[in-house]
Amino acid sequence: MKINSADDYLESLRSLERNVFVRGERISGTPDHPLIRPSVNAVSETFEERDEENSRELLFATSHLTGNEISRFTHIHQSTSDLLRKVLMQRLLARRVATCFQRCVGMDGLNALYSVTYECDAAHHTNYHERLKNYIRFIQEENLVVEGAMTDVKGDRGLRPSEQSDPDMFLRIAKRKDDGIIVRGAKAHQTGALNSHEILVMPTAGMRENEAQYAVSFAIPADAPGITFILGRQPSDTRKIEESPLDVGNPTYGSQEALVIFDDVFVPEERVFLSGEYDSSGAMVERFAAYHRQSYGGCKAGVGDILIGATKLVSEYQGISRASHVRDKITEMIHLNETLFSCGIATSVLGRKTPSGCYLVDMLLANVCKLNVTRFPFEISRLAQDIAGGLLATMPFQKDFENPETAPLLEKYLRGKSEIPTIERIKIMKLLENMTMGCGAAAYLTESIHGAGSPQAQRIMIERLSNIDEKVRLAKKIAGIDW
Ligand code: SF4
Ligand code: FE
Repeated sequence: MKINSADDYLESLRSLERNVFVRGERISGTPDHPLIRPSVNAVSETFEERDEENSRELLFATSHLTGNEISRFTHIHQSTSDLLRKVLMQRLLARRVATCFQRCVGMDGLNALYSVTYECDAAHHTNYHERLKNYIRFIQEENLVVEGAMTDVKGDRGLRPSEQSDPDMFLRIAKRKDDGIIVRGAKAHQTGALNSHEILVMPTAGMRENEAQYAVSFAIPADAPGITFILGRQPSDTRKIEESPLDVGNPTYGSQEALVIFDDVFVPEERVFLSGEYDSSGAMVERFAAYHRQSYGGCKAGVGDILIGATKLVSEYQGISRASHVRDKITEMIHLNETLFSCGIATSVLGRKTPSGCYLVDMLLANVCKLNVTRFPFEISRLAQDIAGGLLATMPFQKDFENPETAPLLEKYLRGKSEIPTIERIKIMKLLENMTMGCGAAAYLTESIHGAGSPQAQRIMIERLSNIDEKVRLAKKIAGIDW
């Protein structure tokens, strides 16, 4: 049944029968669990048009496969305008939820696979691209959420996949059958895993000839037999089960990561998009990473908007908003945030058409974008904490603000400007706490470093793509050096 709204989406998640563990227990009714529901709420926003400028144009697109209107999260980019709209959509959605809305990884995976399967078929006479197109049609028509699964658990980082003492440290083809493959392994810290209907698996690195079993890509329903999900913890996550929304800071929205284990899962042939063509695995990783590094120029800037707004509000509630150093620090936060956004825009506008027809972002600028993302949200958070002051880490519990003995004391002694109720000051401080050191920091800070690849991965790509020889040649020419 096609998902047309946030309500449809919630019902569709309830009907999935998956093997899910949370806090040491197997659970059912996954989307209604208090540790999970805020992350479901964030994904739900991707289904809803709201009263914002260009909301419809950004959230929806026209399918090049069917001509139907579809969610942009299931769309294959047909122009640089599509790439640009994607980044604008991500900033718009992040401004609604102040966290990760988890649906972009599948979108970026489908787009990476679209061009790579086309080129793989041309090189190997396979038929992955047609299979993928059929799969994309299905996803578009049903409006499903697809989790993009790339990061393997990796075992000993100093060893190649084929050198590990346990061969399952990288997800692999354990057995081939006439009608499909059996896969085994695990994908770590999978964004939105429990909020997805489908899992799109890709290899975690470029594979070599003797690593063909690890060069595998496929899509599988999230409730397929043999898949186990174990929810990951986030800082301060149990505040969500204490029934104290004030202490959560952002009680409505959150993000989610899980460990996803594939224990001899059967994947039918029509859902396999790479199975042993190791020479296509590197391009798959690089293109997926480039799309997701572009994505961060949108979503992290949107989260940054909320953080900057909260910081400004705190400065007003505390009576320091007119101090010149505070204004200067907020200006610096805006400068850093808009630099991230500029990178996302630039990498989109300079995208190019691949032979498949799908548009690919500018790979060099995508990596520059993400390398900035590994730093700037930390500096923005540092400035937010600087302005907010130490109360950020010493605020009492919500229950203390409710206890008739302590509430008047807190009302009196934690007040900032006299005309601002104390509780309003505390609410905005708790949001800042959430975003810079609580459960929201998992999405805004840790993900900014490691999501879409750790900083060193971007440095390697920047070195490889920057054409330093050309710069040397130009310098020599200007200096009049002939040899
Ligand atoms: Fe989307 Fe950003 Fe979350 Fe990635 S980190 S899934 S780009 S919101
Ligand atoms: Fe991410």
